[in-house]
Order: sequence, then structure tokens, then C-alpha cells
Amino acid sequence: MFVFGLIVSIADRERVLAEDVRRVCPACGQVVPNRLVKVYRQLALFFILAWRWNRRYFLVCGICGHAESISSEEADALCGGA
Ligand SMILES: [Zn+2]
Repeated sequence: MFVFGLIVSIADRERVLAEDVRRVCPACGQVVPNRLVKVYRQLALFFILAWRWNRRYFLVCGICGHAESISSEEADALCGGA
């Protein structure tokens, strides 16, 4: 007789794509390095990645921590443009 257990996890994950994106922060008005962060929801089976969705991109100010949502096209331009 087989006992079949299935471990499924769904969690929001965060990945830093770039550490030093210089721009003027709309909250504190300083020109500072911003972190480019990708946030996505991930479903895993037995700790193996099965599916990612709901991808969002943010620029996070290095001084005040203000997070501004940006499009995936803008994120691609910031990562690959250098
Ligand atoms: Zn700021």
C-alpha cells in the first residue's frame, strides 16, 4: 500500500536585480542609488519550482526606503542598458 504525500507551497519571493540604479527619489528628493527589485509569487512542489506569476518590479530608495512600482520594460532597460 502506498502513502502519497504532496507538499505544495505558494509564497511571495523577492530578488534584487541591480543595486546601484541612480535616480532622483520622488519621496526624499535625493539622487541616490536605488535597488531594482523583482517580486513574484511562486508555487513549488517538493521544493522544486513549478510556476511563477504576478511579477512586479520596484525601485527602492537607498535612503528613505520608498518603493516605486515600474513596468517590466523599464526594469529591462535599467538592468540591460549598462
Ligand atoms: Zn528616498
